Amino acid sequence: MGVIVQKYGGSSLADVEKIMRVANRIVDTKKEGNKVVAIVSAMGDTTDSLIELASGITEYPPKREMDRLLSTGEQISMSLLAMAIQSLGENAVSLTGPQAGIITDSSHSKAKIVRVMSNRLQKELEGDNIIIVAGFQGETEFHDIATLGRGGSDTSAVSIAAALDADLCEIFTDVDGVYSCDPRIVENAKKLEAVSYDEMLELSILGAKVLQSRAVEVAKTHDVEIHVRSSFNHNIGTIVKGEVSSMEHDGLITGIAHDFDVAKVVIFGVPDTPGTAAKILKALADANINIQMIVQSAQSGNINDIAFTCSTGDAKEAASILQEIANNIGAKAVVINEDIAKVSVVGAGMMTHSNIASRMFNTLGENNINIDLISTSEITISVTVGLEECKLAVKALADEFDLIYK
Ligand code: ADP
Ligand code: ASP
Ligand code: MG
Repeated sequence: MGVIVQKYGGSSLADVEKIMRVANRIVDTKKEGNKVVAIVSAMGDTTDSLIELASGITEYPPKREMDRLLSTGEQISMSLLAMAIQSLGENAVSLTGPQAGIITDSSHSKAKIVRVMSNRLQKELEGDNIIIVAGFQGETEFHDIATLGRGGSDTSAVSIAAALDADLCEIFTDVDGVYSCDPRIVENAKKLEAVSYDEMLELSILGAKVLQSRAVEVAKTHDVEIHVRSSFNHNIGTIVKGEVSSMEHDGLITGIAHDFDVAKVVIFGVPDTPGTAAKILKALADANINIQMIVQSAQSGNINDIAFTCSTGDAKEAASILQEIANNIGAKAVVINEDIAKVSVVGAGMMTHSNIASRMFNTLGENNINIDLISTSEITISVTVGLEECKLAVKALADEFDLIYK
C-alpha cells in the first residue's frame, strides 16, 4: 500500500475511449491497495487548438488571459476522467491546479511552482478518494491562474509526488520510455533502461520533450525517482534517478536531442565597447526571455556581431527589444532566422573522451550538413543546422554513436 502519483499526457487522453482506458488503469492501481493521485494534460491537441483560437483574435494575446484560456484544456480532461472513474464504481474528485494547492510565481506562460500546499490533497486521500489534478497550472499570489510552459503537466506531477512523499511517480506517455533519440524520428532507437537526472536534464533542456526539463530539476532536487512508460501497454519503461550503474547504461553517448523550436537572432555591427553585451542580455532577461547559445564574432574596426538563440515564441519580442537597443548604441541591424533547428549530443562519457566533437562534426560534414552556431558544456555539444536538415542530422549521429538497434 502506497501513494502513487501518475501523470497521463494528452495523447493518452485524446478521446472518450482512451479516457475510459486510463480510468480503468487508475482503478486497477487503486484496487491493488494504493492511494492514487493522477495528473492530467489536455486532451490530444487541445492546447494547440486554443493557442490557434487566440491567434485569430490578436497577434499578441495578453499572457494573463492566455493562461486563463489554456488552463481550461486540462480542466476538461480532469472532469471527464473523474466521471469515468466514478462510472466504474470508485470515488474520485477532480481538482484544478489552485484547488490542489499549486502556488506559482507570476511569470505567466512559464511560471515556476514555488510551493505545493498539500492539505487538500491529503484530506481527499484520507477520504479514500482517487484525486485527478489538472496539470500545467497553478495559482499566483494574486490568485491568478498561471501555466507552467509547454509540457508543464510533467512538472505538476513530480512536484505533487515530492510534496506527498509518494512511493512512485509514473509518467505515462505515448512511447515506451526515454530513448537515446526521438523514436518518432529514428526507427529502432535504443530505449534507455535508466538515465541519470543530469543527463535527462540536458536531454530535456535541449529538446527531448518526453519530460519537461523543469520536472527533471524538481525530481533531482527532491530525489523523486520517475518511471517514464507507455499508457498503451504494461511494458517497463525508463527510470530517471540519481545514480545509474554501468550495467544499466554503458554507452559513451547517452542520447541525441533535437529542437525545432529555436530561432536565431543576430544584432549586426555592434560597437565593441565594455558593457554592451551586458546591456543586451539584461534587457532580454528583464523581459523573461531565455537565451540559449550566444556567439560574438569580431569584425574589423572594433565592430562585433552578436548572435543568440531563443525559442521561436520569444524571437519577435527579443528582436523588437534589440532593435531599440540597436538604435541607441548605433548597431547596424537586427535579423531573425526561424528556419533553424538545434541538434545536440549528450553523454557523461564526453568528460573522458576528447574525440566526440570531431566525430560529430565529421558525421555532419559527410552528410553535407552545414553547421551554424556551436556550443558546448561538460556533457553536451550542440549545433544549429538548417531546419530541413535536422532529421537527417539526428539519424546520422544516432548511427555514428551506436544508438540504434541494428
Ligand atoms: P505527452 O502528451 O504524453 O506529454 P509528449 O508529446 O509531450 O507526450 O512527449 C512524448 C513524445 O516525446 C514522444 O512521442 C516522442 O516523439 C518525443 N520524444 C522526443 N525525444 C524523445 C526521447 N529521447 N525519448 C522518448 N520520446 C521522445
Ligand atoms: N497541455 C500542455 C501542453 O500541451 C501541458 C502538457 O501537456 O503537459 O503543453
Ligand atoms: Mg508532454
